[in-house]
Order: sequence, then structure tokens, then C-alpha cells
Amino acid sequence: MVHCPECDATLAEQSDVEFVDLGAETGFFKASKRFYIVGCGECGAAIGSGVAGAR
Ligand SMILES: [Zn+2]
Repeated sequence: MVHCPECDATLAEQSDVEFVDLGAETGFFKASKRFYIVGCGECGAAIGSGVAGAR
């Protein structure tokens, strides 16, 4: 999957990363989309981000 640029951990499983959902916090995005950040499960470094459609 991806390697953490900070601690070089291999993040192969979804359980290895942390998804921080910002949509509910900022209020900037409409309910139809949610912005999230993917963080390393080992050191917490931000690896990537994206926007996911609401269910
Ligand atoms: Zn890391």
C-alpha cells in the first residue's frame, strides 16, 4: 500500500492508518462529501487526504 515518510512503517492494511474525518468539524463541506486525512497508525504523520462521498 504505502510507506510512512516519517517512520517508514509499511501501511498495508486499512487498520494501520487513521482516518480523521474533518467534515463534521469544519462545516465547510456539505453533507454530501466528507474530507478526511489518512495518518500513519505508528507515528501519526499525515500521509494523504481525500474526499469521500457520503453514504
Ligand atoms: Zn509513521
